[in-house]
Amino acid sequence: MSKFWSPSVQELKPYIPGEQPRTRLIKLNTNENPYPPAPGVERVLREYPIDHLRLYPDPDASALRDALAREYNVQPEQVFLGNGSDEVLAFAFQAFFRHDKPLLMPEITYSFYPVYCQLYAIEAQRVALDDQWRVQLDAFDSDNGGIIFANPNAPTGHGYSRAAIAELLSHHTERVVLVDEAYADFGGESAVGLVDTCPNLLVTGTFSKSRSLAGLRIGYAIGSRELIEGLDRVKNSFNSYPLDSLAIAAGVAALEDRAHFKACCEAVITTRERTRRGLEQLDFEVLPSQANFLFVRPRSMSALEVFSELRERGILVRHFNTDILHDFLRISIGTDDEMDTLLETLDTLINVTPH
Ligand SMILES: *Cc1c(COP(=O)(O)O)cnc(C)c1O
Repeated sequence: MSKFWSPSVQELKPYIPGEQPRTRLIKLNTNENPYPPAPGVERVLREYPIDHLRLYPDPDASALRDALAREYNVQPEQVFLGNGSDEVLAFAFQAFFRHDKPLLMPEITYSFYPVYCQLYAIEAQRVALDDQWRVQLDAFDSDNGGIIFANPNAPTGHGYSRAAIAELLSHHTERVVLVDEAYADFGGESAVGLVDTCPNLLVTGTFSKSRSLAGLRIGYAIGSRELIEGLDRVKNSFNSYPLDSLAIAAGVAALEDRAHFKACCEAVITTRERTRRGLEQLDFEVLPSQANFLFVRPRSMSALEVFSELRERGILVRHFNTDILHDFLRISIGTDDEMDTLLETLDTLINVTPH
């Protein structure tokens, strides 16, 4: 607390990001990609003309916007870019969700959404998941100030088909429905194909997970021109240049290498399924996942205990200390070697601990 802070800032409960250790650990706690970015990204960064850094970047990041438009088969005017999808989400909350009615979201979802609600004084209404930890799409009230959820959802990993999202949109046409596709490249189905027929659908995505560029901060949104214009209004009232020149150039290079992208996503998926079987053999409950992480419940030790014991042995996973989630861990998918180390470590832990 400080007398210098605005009253609303005294009240904020900021998002707590997963820890970023300085020492070498096996880091399975923030869903980063274990594989390097496309080789073209390195080339672009090495060869970037340093003198260009004197100049401001393109405020519209047009080169990257055009490349994303081609990738998703939409018009460039249907694409918005921001400094990571967290920033894109912040702009979207400001642009679309500040209504009298509450914003609807699943009770369990990306924990940044309620933080933005507090920042922008938006009332959030949480809708319980079903008994299989799935978002209940048909439980969203028709009377709302907007709807937001991640698909696949985090930290559960369950995702809905495009047809299910289309069905949801057929019941909600008056306010924005935001589908956060941070994890869609790991086996989910993108709803981008619906943006031409659903002017209130905004799909967000990120280069942080499937394109191995969390450190560069590139996020995007795809929707109708109307929605993109709303985002532009907020962005241009806040920061004209959310993407720096290096991020724009490197982002284009990342998109160009389809083969690398596909190979990395497939490797993550294969390792995920192998890890899933390994964890099940160690008596973990493992939820089906379409993302680059597994949401798991150890049956023979408490989740917090497993978290702490792993941490002591140099392996970081994510534990959420909330009433609903405290029995579970979220484990990001690393390389095969990292996951083998995890499974071997768990095997010794679970064998030596009496239960
Ligand atoms: C990681 C994540 C983001 C944020 O991605 P950045 O582009 O790195 O800001 C947004 N939504 C969900 C659901 C995520 O898991």
